[in-house]
Amino acid sequence: MLSKQPASSKNGSLIITVEGSQSERNIPRSNVTSWTKLVLDMHPPGTSIRTVTCSYCNVEQPPRAKHCHDCDRCVLQFDHHCVWLGVCIGWGNHCRFWWYIFEETALCIWTGILYITYLKANISRAWLKDVIMILLLVTLSIALIFLLLLLIFHSYLILTNQTTYELIRRRRIPYLRAIPERVYPFSKGVCRNLYSFCCARSSIYSLERLPTAMELEDKSRPYTCLEFLTCRCC
Ligand SMILES: [Zn+2]
Ligand SMILES: [Zn+2]
Repeated sequence: MLSKQPASSKNGSLIITVEGSQSERNIPRSNVTSWTKLVLDMHPPGTSIRTVTCSYCNVEQPPRAKHCHDCDRCVLQFDHHCVWLGVCIGWGNHCRFWWYIFEETALCIWTGILYITYLKANISRAWLKDVIMILLLVTLSIALIFLLLLLIFHSYLILTNQTTYELIRRRRIPYLRAIPERVYPFSKGVCRNLYSFCCARSSIYSLERLPTAMELEDKSRPYTCLEFLTCRCC
Protein backbone atom coordinates (compact mmCIF):
# COMPACT_ATOMS: atom_id res chain seq x y z
CA MET A 1 0.00 0.00 0.00
CA LEU A 2 1.78 3.06 -1.17
CA SER A 3 0.64 6.60 -1.31
CA LYS A 4 1.97 9.96 -2.35
CA GLN A 5 0.39 13.39 -2.14
CA PRO A 6 -3.35 13.82 -2.68
CA ALA A 7 -4.22 14.91 -6.21
CA SER A 8 -7.64 16.30 -5.41
CA SER A 9 -10.63 16.10 -3.13
CA LYS A 10 -14.10 15.26 -4.42
CA ASN A 11 -17.39 14.38 -2.69
CA GLY A 12 -15.57 14.10 0.62
CA SER A 13 -13.23 11.49 -0.81
CA LEU A 14 -9.51 11.99 -1.24
CA ILE A 15 -7.91 11.05 -4.51
CA ILE A 16 -4.40 9.76 -4.01
CA THR A 17 -1.84 8.68 -6.52
CA VAL A 18 -0.64 5.15 -5.92
CA GLU A 19 2.70 4.00 -7.21
CA GLY A 20 4.06 0.56 -7.95
CA SER A 21 3.24 -2.36 -5.69
CA GLN A 22 0.73 -2.17 -2.90
CA SER A 23 3.32 -2.91 -0.28
CA GLU A 24 4.71 -0.48 2.19
CA ARG A 25 8.16 -1.99 1.82
CA ASN A 26 10.83 0.17 0.20
CA ILE A 27 8.71 3.29 0.53
CA PRO A 28 10.61 6.42 1.51
CA ARG A 29 9.81 7.39 5.09
CA SER A 30 8.32 10.75 4.02
CA ASN A 31 5.71 8.92 1.92
CA VAL A 32 4.69 6.70 4.85
CA THR A 33 4.33 9.81 7.04
CA SER A 34 2.22 11.66 4.48
CA TRP A 35 0.06 8.57 3.96
CA THR A 36 -0.52 8.24 7.74
CA LYS A 37 -1.42 11.93 7.91
CA LEU A 38 -3.89 11.57 5.03
CA VAL A 39 -5.66 8.59 6.56
CA LEU A 40 -5.80 10.15 10.02
CA ASP A 41 -7.11 13.44 8.59
CA MET A 42 -9.81 11.55 6.76
CA HIS A 43 -10.68 9.19 9.60
CA PRO A 44 -9.48 10.76 12.87
CA PRO A 45 -9.12 8.41 15.86
CA GLY A 46 -12.15 8.51 18.12
CA THR A 47 -14.63 8.81 15.26
CA SER A 48 -16.98 5.96 14.48
CA ILE A 49 -14.62 4.86 11.73
CA ARG A 50 -11.69 3.27 13.46
CA THR A 51 -8.49 3.11 11.48
CA VAL A 52 -6.00 0.35 12.10
CA THR A 53 -2.24 0.35 11.99
CA CYS A 54 -1.05 -2.80 10.27
CA SER A 55 1.30 -4.57 12.66
CA TYR A 56 3.14 -6.24 9.77
CA CYS A 57 3.65 -3.28 7.42
CA ASN A 58 3.43 -0.60 10.13
CA VAL A 59 1.23 1.65 8.00
CA GLU A 60 -2.14 3.18 8.68
CA GLN A 61 -4.90 1.13 7.06
CA PRO A 62 -7.88 3.10 5.78
CA PRO A 63 -11.29 1.38 5.69
CA ARG A 64 -11.47 -1.28 2.94
CA ALA A 65 -7.77 -2.14 3.20
CA LYS A 66 -6.54 -5.43 4.63
CA HIS A 67 -3.24 -7.16 5.19
CA CYS A 68 -2.87 -10.29 3.06
CA HIS A 69 -0.73 -12.93 4.76
CA ASP A 70 -0.13 -14.78 1.49
CA CYS A 71 1.22 -11.70 -0.30
CA ASP A 72 2.65 -10.24 2.94
CA ARG A 73 1.41 -6.75 2.17
CA CYS A 74 -1.51 -4.44 2.78
CA VAL A 75 -3.97 -4.33 -0.08
CA LEU A 76 -6.23 -1.37 -0.80
CA GLN A 77 -9.89 -2.24 -1.37
CA PHE A 78 -9.08 -5.87 -0.58
CA ASP A 79 -11.43 -8.33 -2.27
CA HIS A 80 -9.78 -11.72 -1.80
CA HIS A 81 -6.54 -13.60 -2.36
CA CYS A 82 -6.94 -15.68 -5.50
CA VAL A 83 -5.23 -19.04 -5.07
CA TRP A 84 -5.46 -19.81 -8.78
CA LEU A 85 -3.73 -16.62 -9.88
CA GLY A 86 -1.55 -16.38 -6.78
CA VAL A 87 -2.25 -12.67 -6.28
CA CYS A 88 -4.56 -10.49 -4.29
CA ILE A 89 -7.61 -9.05 -6.00
CA GLY A 90 -8.21 -5.51 -4.88
CA TRP A 91 -7.58 -1.96 -6.00
CA GLY A 92 -6.08 -1.79 -9.49
CA ASN A 93 -6.86 -5.32 -10.68
CA HIS A 94 -10.46 -6.11 -9.75
CA CYS A 95 -11.69 -4.87 -13.12
CA ARG A 96 -9.17 -7.06 -14.95
CA PHE A 97 -10.21 -9.99 -12.73
CA TRP A 98 -13.85 -9.51 -13.79
CA TRP A 99 -12.82 -9.54 -17.46
CA TYR A 100 -10.72 -12.65 -16.80
CA ILE A 101 -13.79 -14.49 -15.43
CA PHE A 102 -15.88 -13.17 -18.32
CA GLU A 103 -13.37 -14.44 -20.90
CA GLU A 104 -13.12 -17.83 -19.15
CA THR A 105 -16.93 -18.09 -19.20
CA ALA A 106 -17.10 -17.16 -22.89
CA LEU A 107 -14.36 -19.71 -23.66
CA CYS A 108 -16.25 -22.44 -21.78
CA ILE A 109 -19.49 -21.66 -23.67
CA TRP A 110 -17.67 -21.69 -27.01
CA THR A 111 -15.90 -24.98 -26.24
CA GLY A 112 -19.22 -26.49 -25.09
CA ILE A 113 -20.84 -25.51 -28.39
CA LEU A 114 -17.99 -27.16 -30.31
CA TYR A 115 -18.32 -30.36 -28.24
CA ILE A 116 -22.08 -30.54 -28.78
CA THR A 117 -21.70 -29.87 -32.52
CA TYR A 118 -19.13 -32.68 -32.75
CA LEU A 119 -21.30 -35.12 -30.79
CA LYS A 120 -24.33 -34.27 -32.94
CA ALA A 121 -22.36 -34.82 -36.14
CA ASN A 122 -21.21 -38.23 -34.89
CA ILE A 123 -24.49 -39.37 -33.32
CA SER A 124 -24.64 -42.53 -35.42
CA ARG A 125 -21.36 -43.85 -33.92
CA ALA A 126 -21.41 -46.14 -30.90
CA TRP A 127 -21.67 -43.84 -27.86
CA LEU A 128 -18.88 -45.72 -26.05
CA LYS A 129 -16.45 -44.25 -28.55
CA ASP A 130 -17.44 -40.82 -27.40
CA VAL A 131 -17.39 -41.55 -23.70
CA ILE A 132 -14.30 -39.38 -23.13
CA MET A 133 -15.95 -36.58 -25.05
CA ILE A 134 -19.07 -36.85 -22.87
CA LEU A 135 -17.01 -36.88 -19.68
CA LEU A 136 -15.18 -33.75 -20.85
CA LEU A 137 -18.50 -32.11 -21.62
CA VAL A 138 -19.77 -32.86 -18.11
CA THR A 139 -16.58 -31.41 -16.58
CA LEU A 140 -16.92 -28.37 -18.80
CA SER A 141 -20.55 -27.90 -17.72
CA ILE A 142 -19.56 -27.99 -14.04
CA ALA A 143 -16.80 -25.43 -14.68
CA LEU A 144 -19.25 -23.26 -16.61
CA ILE A 145 -21.79 -23.26 -13.76
CA PHE A 146 -19.03 -22.27 -11.31
CA LEU A 147 -17.77 -19.50 -13.62
CA LEU A 148 -21.27 -18.14 -14.29
CA LEU A 149 -22.02 -17.96 -10.56
CA LEU A 150 -18.68 -16.24 -9.94
CA LEU A 151 -19.37 -13.76 -12.75
CA ILE A 152 -22.84 -12.94 -11.40
CA PHE A 153 -21.48 -12.61 -7.86
CA HIS A 154 -18.69 -10.21 -8.86
CA SER A 155 -21.08 -8.22 -11.06
CA TYR A 156 -23.34 -7.79 -8.02
CA LEU A 157 -20.36 -6.66 -5.92
CA ILE A 158 -19.37 -4.13 -8.58
CA LEU A 159 -22.88 -2.69 -8.94
CA THR A 160 -23.16 -2.22 -5.17
CA ASN A 161 -19.51 -1.16 -4.65
CA GLN A 162 -18.68 -3.92 -2.20
CA THR A 163 -15.86 -6.41 -1.95
CA THR A 164 -16.04 -10.15 -1.25
CA TYR A 165 -14.28 -9.59 2.06
CA GLU A 166 -16.79 -6.91 3.12
CA LEU A 167 -19.75 -9.08 2.13
CA ILE A 168 -18.56 -12.20 3.92
CA ARG A 169 -17.13 -10.54 7.03
CA ARG A 170 -19.67 -7.73 7.30
CA ARG A 171 -20.51 -8.49 10.95
CA ARG A 172 -16.83 -8.58 11.93
CA ILE A 173 -15.60 -5.46 10.16
CA PRO A 174 -15.68 -2.50 12.61
CA TYR A 175 -16.75 0.12 10.04
CA LEU A 176 -19.60 -2.05 8.68
CA ARG A 177 -20.84 -3.73 11.86
CA ALA A 178 -23.35 -1.03 12.79
CA ILE A 179 -24.65 -0.47 9.27
CA PRO A 180 -28.00 -2.12 8.51
CA GLU A 181 -28.16 -5.04 6.07
CA ARG A 182 -28.76 -4.16 2.42
CA VAL A 183 -27.26 -0.71 2.90
CA TYR A 184 -24.12 -0.35 0.86
CA PRO A 185 -22.15 2.49 2.47
CA PHE A 186 -19.69 3.00 -0.39
CA SER A 187 -22.28 2.80 -3.16
CA LYS A 188 -22.60 5.94 -5.25
CA GLY A 189 -25.44 4.55 -7.36
CA VAL A 190 -25.33 1.76 -9.95
CA CYS A 191 -24.14 3.93 -12.86
CA ARG A 192 -21.40 5.74 -10.94
CA ASN A 193 -20.26 2.49 -9.28
CA LEU A 194 -19.94 0.96 -12.72
CA TYR A 195 -18.18 4.00 -14.12
CA SER A 196 -15.63 4.21 -11.31
CA PHE A 197 -15.02 0.44 -11.52
CA CYS A 198 -14.46 0.40 -15.27
CA CYS A 199 -12.83 3.77 -15.81
CA ALA A 200 -10.81 4.36 -12.64
CA ARG A 201 -7.08 4.63 -13.23
CA SER A 202 -5.16 2.01 -11.28
CA SER A 203 -2.54 4.63 -10.38
CA ILE A 204 -5.11 6.80 -8.61
CA TYR A 205 -6.78 5.61 -5.43
CA SER A 206 -9.84 7.24 -3.96
CA LEU A 207 -9.69 7.25 -0.17
CA GLU A 208 -13.38 6.86 0.53
CA ARG A 209 -15.18 8.22 3.54
CA LEU A 210 -18.09 6.45 5.16
CA PRO A 211 -21.44 8.21 4.94
CA THR A 212 -22.78 10.12 7.92
CA ALA A 213 -25.69 8.79 10.01
CA MET A 214 -28.08 10.99 8.01
CA GLU A 215 -26.78 9.72 4.68
CA LEU A 216 -27.07 6.14 5.94
CA GLU A 217 -30.65 6.75 6.97
CA ASP A 218 -31.35 8.12 3.51
CA LYS A 219 -29.71 5.08 1.87
CA SER A 220 -31.76 2.64 3.98
CA ARG A 221 -35.06 4.34 3.09
CA PRO A 222 -37.21 2.03 0.91
CA TYR A 223 -37.69 3.03 -2.70
CA THR A 224 -40.94 4.64 -3.78
CA CYS A 225 -42.41 4.12 -7.27
CA LEU A 226 -41.44 7.67 -8.20
CA GLU A 227 -37.84 7.06 -7.12
CA PHE A 228 -37.69 3.96 -9.29
CA LEU A 229 -38.88 6.04 -12.24
CA THR A 230 -36.38 8.80 -11.52
CA CYS A 231 -33.58 6.22 -11.02
CA ARG A 232 -32.67 7.09 -7.43
CA CYS A 233 -30.42 4.01 -7.43
CA CYS A 234 -28.32 5.50 -10.23
ZN1 LIG B 1 0.04 -4.91 6.17
ZN1 LIG C 1 -2.74 -11.83 -1.35
